[in-house]
Amino acid sequence: MAGPPRAGRRLHAVAGRIREEDIALVRERARIDEVVSQHVTLRNAGGGSLKGLCPFHDEKSPSFHVTPAKQFFHCFGCQVGGDVFDFMMRIEGLTFVDTVERLAGRYGVQLRYTEPDAPGAPRRDASQRPRLLEAHRLAAEFYVSQLFDSPDARTARQFLSERGFDKDAAEQFGVGFAPRTGDAIYKHLRQKGFREEELVTGGLVGQSGRGPYDRFRGRLLWPIREVSGEVVGFGARRLFDDDRIEAKYLNTPETPIYKKSHLLYGVDLARREIARRKQAVVVEGYTDVMACHLSGVETAVATCGTAFGEDHGRVLRRLLLDHEQFRGEIIFTFDGDEAGQRAALRAFQGDQQFVAQTYVAVEPGGLDPCDVRVQKGDAEVRELIARRVPLYRFVLRNVLERYDLDRADARVDAMREAAGLVASVRDRSKIDAFARELAGMVGLDVDEVRAEVRRSAAARSAPRRAPSDRPSYHPSDRPGDGPGAPPAPDRPDVRDPRYAAEREALQVVVQHPHLVGEAFSELGDDDFTHPTLAGVRRAVEAVGGPGAAGSAGWVSVLRERSEDEYAAAALSALAVEPLRISGEPGTRLADALLARVQELTALRRIEQVKSRLQRTNPVEEQTAYNRMFGELVALEQHRRALRERAIGSGL
Ligand SMILES: [Zn+2]
Repeated sequence: MAGPPRAGRRLHAVAGRIREEDIALVRERARIDEVVSQHVTLRNAGGGSLKGLCPFHDEKSPSFHVTPAKQFFHCFGCQVGGDVFDFMMRIEGLTFVDTVERLAGRYGVQLRYTEPDAPGAPRRDASQRPRLLEAHRLAAEFYVSQLFDSPDARTARQFLSERGFDKDAAEQFGVGFAPRTGDAIYKHLRQKGFREEELVTGGLVGQSGRGPYDRFRGRLLWPIREVSGEVVGFGARRLFDDDRIEAKYLNTPETPIYKKSHLLYGVDLARREIARRKQAVVVEGYTDVMACHLSGVETAVATCGTAFGEDHGRVLRRLLLDHEQFRGEIIFTFDGDEAGQRAALRAFQGDQQFVAQTYVAVEPGGLDPCDVRVQKGDAEVRELIARRVPLYRFVLRNVLERYDLDRADARVDAMREAAGLVASVRDRSKIDAFARELAGMVGLDVDEVRAEVRRSAAARSAPRRAPSDRPSYHPSDRPGDGPGAPPAPDRPDVRDPRYAAEREALQVVVQHPHLVGEAFSELGDDDFTHPTLAGVRRAVEAVGGPGAAGSAGWVSVLRERSEDEYAAAALSALAVEPLRISGEPGTRLADALLARVQELTALRRIEQVKSRLQRTNPVEEQTAYNRMFGELVALEQHRRALRERAIGSGL
């Protein structure tokens, strides 16, 4: 599990690069809810906060919060949090500089650099991603123009029209044609100022003994985009018999921007409909995605040259989230043939978290959605999807079909094999319903099937441990404990009123620094019983106290100055958690909360002095006794003054 980002990394990343004012402007303009929404479906969580399924750890109910007013996110499950830059860096695997450049481009901020690169000098690796994305954008444009202008592309256009795609359809999906010459894209992009290494790194160009060559030659191309709509690679269909590469489909290799394990063709187009209809349809090919969308199934996506895996599932689930729980449907279209059955069985035995919401749409004649559309029309494609059956039923049926169920002994064998599958379902609450259905399918008594499922489950459960969601964490609880992490502070007792008071005081410091003022300087390390919270106080002190808070980026500044990742994680939690009070907090409340923390410290000291007084003989140790007594009186006075201020803190 990933821990929170390391505090302080940003200072190093930025040194001598983008001007601070520009970074602040990007942070202000790049709305965090908008940026996060491209990856995670968010819903209202009340108190000006939004929530969704965390993209950084696997969970069933949302603990990932975004607070647009504070431009902050925090996951109470895995403790990852931060501002819009932290989110982008983490989800896209970008450097800080890349992130700023990318968001600046998207939100129209002109960046200025304090140390511009020397003329002609290669740009630093840190800004590689925007260059690769730009190269792909231009390449996609170029390929599209070739499809309609180049005489060579006739075969490609014919391929499309045979499959029922006209010019409009090709344009809608950005389909293009890679010329056969072998150096067309290389020359085109070199002319636009890209270096050979960049084109090779991006997977557009390959290198051989005879020099650079276009990776895609004489092929029909589909641009593969991120959820955000940026082209990161291509899928290419063979068209000519003399193509030296035999593979029917060729994809961009793994590059810094192309990760096939989570890319889904069409997801940029399907994103909104997936969230709206709470349905995602997974088809097998690029033409199937096109056929589905054109037929009105606008939730269709396809993997890109790889089987559907857990990362793909996570991408879809994040888009499908609705209400507290995942309720959407993921529908796979499989061939009715053996390969399709194997694929379904794999899906069933693989990541089962949502097995009950997984469906299969099978065309009895073995046609894929593209063929269905050509041969039977749009309505039939919609029908195919509507006729979906639950995955478990499809898989059980496939097992039973291999047996002659007219024979009593075969019925028992069939039931045994199928019961093994039912027993493998991790969601225990579903097993009984599945067993009942199996009994009906095979024509045996329900109790007999149940008994077999139990036997099978017992046989398999012994050495295995069911994976469970991490228990929900209280903020400032330990974040990750991966290698290299500093020793985690003890788990705080969240019901401890002292801990609650300390947290709330820091919450107001983090969320409303302008209300706090000088009172903060009265706090010291010994006012905090939990080391993480003491670390947060030191971070605030290190940046010059709440008075140093600017208009934007206050929490980010604090996180950068945190001594460890625990304090950094606690800071983002403190920033997103709503204050207990309703309405706008004022200076009075802020002062009360800070005074309350000090009052509790004073009470602690009073207890200590009283205890020492009890152990001191007033006659034999008169001087010490009187000194302590004086101390006690002073402490009591101090405490009463704090009590006055703390009234209204509600604690
Ligand atoms: Zn998380």
